[in-house]
Amino acid sequence: MNQIKIGAFISQRRKAKGWTQSQLAEKLEVTDKAVSKWETGRSMPDLSLFLPLCTLLDITLNELFAGECIAEEKLKEKADEVLMNVITNWLGHDKRELKEYDTAPPNILEVENVSKLYETENNSVSAVNDVSFRIPHGSFVGIMGASGSGKTTLLHLIATIDKPTSGTIRINGQNIVDIPEEDTAEFRRRHLGFVFQEYNLLETLTVYENIALALTIKDVSKESIRPMIQSLSEKLDISAILDKFPYEISGGQRQRCACARALVVNPDIILADEPTGALDSHAARQLLDTFAMLCREYGATILMVTHDVMAASYCDKILFMKDGEIKAALNREQENKQTFFADILKKIEWIEGESHDVLEAVNP
Ligand code: ADP
Ligand code: MG
Repeated sequence: MNQIKIGAFISQRRKAKGWTQSQLAEKLEVTDKAVSKWETGRSMPDLSLFLPLCTLLDITLNELFAGECIAEEKLKEKADEVLMNVITNWLGHDKRELKEYDTAPPNILEVENVSKLYETENNSVSAVNDVSFRIPHGSFVGIMGASGSGKTTLLHLIATIDKPTSGTIRINGQNIVDIPEEDTAEFRRRHLGFVFQEYNLLETLTVYENIALALTIKDVSKESIRPMIQSLSEKLDISAILDKFPYEISGGQRQRCACARALVVNPDIILADEPTGALDSHAARQLLDTFAMLCREYGATILMVTHDVMAASYCDKILFMKDGEIKAALNREQENKQTFFADILKKIEWIEGESHDVLEAVNP
């Protein structure tokens, strides 16, 4: 996609209509400056403006992206439909849509009074004890806690991998506790994305095929699969390794492929359990930047379990677990990562009392 060519094309079509930049700006309810920036190739119109812009300029989406008129006989009938699929399937949640919330965004996840009791032969373990919290659309929430505090159990309950002993869990309004056992796999495929350490890519398939598999399970038409995967791969910086097998790429690349696979089906929520656990710090930061970008730009909702303070500092909100309970919560508000990092450390210190584990968390 050549931004300068697209800009020149917009300019040319606008002039053909006999409009000034301000007149076009007015029709689209944007500033004159915005139009001027598009036309000089300094920026692209917001996704939500593509269609109205095309209608005004009498061009197709393909022509807009190509930056030129396409002869009738060359126009593949399906092409527009494919592009729209890409846009609505995952680019659909663009920045504009996010800003439109006048009130608080809707909750994607609602956990109410959830407990999980594991009964073993001679004792019972209360792995999760009366936990309640909500996660609004578009947020990146972390769950922190020492080993054995119940993080994975809680995530498995939300993932329909395990059932709570009591309480309700709603995903997009649906109480998932009621879903019959035999329907949970289907529910997971349609509504959830997973980035688990042990939830590996299939080794006998290429990266491309691994991602495509998620889409075929979701009945996405064959011709829209390739453009969807290509544009998402560019965003996740894995375009160059699409034809490689999982064993040929690094751990960081594998996790980003897992992200692509999780995200491409546009799930209600992405669940990640220690996603950076096996990565070096560069790859970890890259993955966390990716998560933050997905929330910010695509309205993805992510719940990530981690015991790493650096990873947690990328989140909007942290829930702190201890002995199966949520002991505290911390909101990032407007702080930068560094300040939030320090706040998280203080909170851990407060929860753990005099414990010196805090220092180990900083320098593992
Ligand atoms: P975390 O992920 O925070 O390390 P877990 O959720 O794995 O914690 O475990 C919480 C508690 O529940 C631990 O005491 C663990 O031993 C116990 N537990 C986890 N899974 C099971 C199980 N399948 N059966 C019995 N006890 C379990
Ligand atoms: Mg765990």
